Amino acid sequence: MYTVYDLDRDLETLKGQGAKVFTVGYSELGRPIKGVFKGATYGPQLLVQGCIHAREWVTAQLCVLLFERYLGKCGLWCVPMVNPDGAMLVQKGLDSVENAERRDFLYGINGGSDFSLWKANARAVDLNVNFPALWGTGRNNVDHPAPADYIGPYPLSESESRSLAQFTDKINPIYTVSYHARGRVIYYGFDGMNPDPDVVGIASSVTGYPAYTSHGSAGGYKDWFVLTKGRAGLTIEVGSDSTPYGELQKQLPSMLKENGGLLDALSRKAGE
Ligand SMILES: [Zn+2]
Repeated sequence: MYTVYDLDRDLETLKGQGAKVFTVGYSELGRPIKGVFKGATYGPQLLVQGCIHAREWVTAQLCVLLFERYLGKCGLWCVPMVNPDGAMLVQKGLDSVENAERRDFLYGINGGSDFSLWKANARAVDLNVNFPALWGTGRNNVDHPAPADYIGPYPLSESESRSLAQFTDKINPIYTVSYHARGRVIYYGFDGMNPDPDVVGIASSVTGYPAYTSHGSAGGYKDWFVLTKGRAGLTIEVGSDSTPYGELQKQLPSMLKENGGLLDALSRKAGE
């Protein structure tokens, strides 16, 4: 497991080592969405983000471990757990939800109390199809609350996606890296755009993962970043496809081996 409490403890440790801890906003259930920063505040900035999808909570821990290892010159802004309510729901079930009405709503949408495959936030919106980038046109999009793929009532309707978008606008990163699970692949570009094409080449050679342009996706954070900023954003899927989400933590050593050099490589690229 890697809950919001585990993340808090790790962020405290990083703070003790000199990193700056901050809050980008609050989840729909009022949990802080925390981040951590180190490096230069001037020059190009990098943003790495994880756990926008609830069941992929292992990526929050991966982000923290990658942050610890980062030695690059560019400022590194890390938001490990964009969807804390969802991550808690997957790991702790309905006990993680205080409000009885909300518990009933989530139980009904989920069709039971096993939330291990839940992707959405606590309003049953899939945050990674809630961004204004051809919103609602994705292949798997759903127009009603669901454990996955619901686009929400309108773009950036959710406090989590809105917080991440506003924060991105504020720090104006040169590249973004979004960690997801599973599959050991990289997705890049959006709607025929591929800004700064060397970036995906670097990411693919460092990680050893094949890279594909996104097809049939819309409304994702990376989609929005590429479309509105005209800069390179990567979605990186970690972990073996055949491993259950709850067991992906065992693969952190190989995830680290594959991804450990990536942020430093992107920092060098940004500094050229
Ligand atoms: Zn995902």
